[in-house]
Amino acid sequence: MSYDPPRVAYFCMEYGLSETFPIYSGGLGVLAGDFMRSCKALDLPVVGVGLVWADGYTTQALSSKGFPEDHPTPLDRSVLIPEKPVVSVNVAGREVHLNIFRVEAFDNATLYLLEPVEARDRWITKRLYGGGKDDRVAQEILLGIGGVRALRALGVGVDVYHFNEGHALFAGLELLSEKRAQGFSFERAWETVRPHIVFTTHTPVDAGNEVHEIEHLQRMGATLNFKESELVRLGGDPFNMTAAALRLSTRANAVAELHGETARHMWRGVNDGAPINAITNGVDHRVWQDRNIANAFVTADDPAMLSAHDACKCALLSEIETRTSAILNPDLLLIGFARRATAYKRATLFFHDRLRAEALLDRGAQIVFAGKSHPKDSGGRELVHQLAELERIYPGQVVFIPNYDLHLGRLLTRGCDIWLNTPRRPLEACGTSGMKAAMNGVLNVSILDGWWPEGCEHGQNGWKIEAPGSDAYPSNKEGDEADARALYELLENEVLPAFADRPRWAKMMRGSIEMSRRFTSDRMVRDYFASLYTESSQKLAASAR
Ligand SMILES: *Cc1c(COP(=O)(O)O)cnc(C)c1O
Repeated sequence: MSYDPPRVAYFCMEYGLSETFPIYSGGLGVLAGDFMRSCKALDLPVVGVGLVWADGYTTQALSSKGFPEDHPTPLDRSVLIPEKPVVSVNVAGREVHLNIFRVEAFDNATLYLLEPVEARDRWITKRLYGGGKDDRVAQEILLGIGGVRALRALGVGVDVYHFNEGHALFAGLELLSEKRAQGFSFERAWETVRPHIVFTTHTPVDAGNEVHEIEHLQRMGATLNFKESELVRLGGDPFNMTAAALRLSTRANAVAELHGETARHMWRGVNDGAPINAITNGVDHRVWQDRNIANAFVTADDPAMLSAHDACKCALLSEIETRTSAILNPDLLLIGFARRATAYKRATLFFHDRLRAEALLDRGAQIVFAGKSHPKDSGGRELVHQLAELERIYPGQVVFIPNYDLHLGRLLTRGCDIWLNTPRRPLEACGTSGMKAAMNGVLNVSILDGWWPEGCEHGQNGWKIEAPGSDAYPSNKEGDEADARALYELLENEVLPAFADRPRWAKMMRGSIEMSRRFTSDRMVRDYFASLYTESSQKLAASAR
């Protein structure tokens, strides 16, 4: 890049850098991990800020009755390099001292992680997204307020603060309070810090946009003695973390074009100062793309590409056999579905009409499921149970593999033949696993939600599941019905015949890999620097003039 890129501090609650370092839970963390690796690969001035999660995220197993059981996964602490400074934050009236660790072991840009010094304070970082409301606010105090103090103590220069999700919002309050300490009015402080803050919103699902009672935030020590009226101006009452992040930032982005439209509508009136643009997510091809597939694509060698794919499929099938003792047939179509177990993703849509699903299984379709539920989400647990039941009813044709993590994600997004995605539109903000599949020539069969409208050339590089007008149906029930019908017709009339035609399939794989080059995290990071970060630093330069 010809200009001096701004120095960025990236705040995120979770980082998916390695299955051996489980401080992540799902898509947000995996994205943050890929982001950090791309920043390193492109040599961009970015540091990450996060927390050391004591137990890491959970390891999932199935009970004999087919319900998920989640156990803590111990963290490999050998990659944590201690830094000298200790910082402190106030949590519910108690001074909590924080150690700072540096992590650079995963080809990532420097990541600073905070952890309470004293054992009695470690309840805060015990379990990612665990505990109750107090735990969540305490976690966010550590990330946001502790994070800014850590950067100061380390002497890290920062031009742009990137709040990846509203979890980091309290960093904005800390930046405001630094200005207040210099004698700025609230108004002036806001004007001064705002050009330095950018924000990414990640989900249109209500539960993903946190709201807290102001009184609760005050009691927890999150509000740094700002007046209630000032807090209300930022986040409303009750205090909405996403709204406050939008009001505090100079620019914001959504994670796909369609999500941009949804988010602009959802936050209209709130986002006037910080226009929500779309910067579509991407994934790190160095991690997610199989070497042999990549080579065969570059040399345009279709037979080599098909055999590389067959090798990935065999690796997956043997892992499935090891873990579940199910034996699938490598010559038959393998459908993959690995997603967080939550209702809007509709994991069981394929089985909406049992008879039609069975007819597809009889014609040789096999399906492999994976996905975790939040341990406290009874609906999600029930969904995992339903998937385990389907495995029992259709042995050798349907499999549920417990413990979806980065390792299993790699095997699945390389080794399936098609990658199924059936969210209720427009609730899937992006859906990056489909990009991983696409770059391995695993063909997407997906509702036109998240990133897929930008990638899909129907019948050329994958397929859209499209029931005319299904998102306008008056109820979920009717929408599900219509989408399921569209899925069956697609699989029966297009996907299975294409699968039987190897040259056609290879051509589509090539189309998919070609298309996936627009969905790398290197491209995403360049976009961040070209618009999100640089625009804000240019505004900065302009305001200094
Ligand atoms: C890529 C990935 C995700 C995110 O993918 P989605 O398509 O958003 O579900 C989640 N978990 C793991 C382990 C992944 O590898």
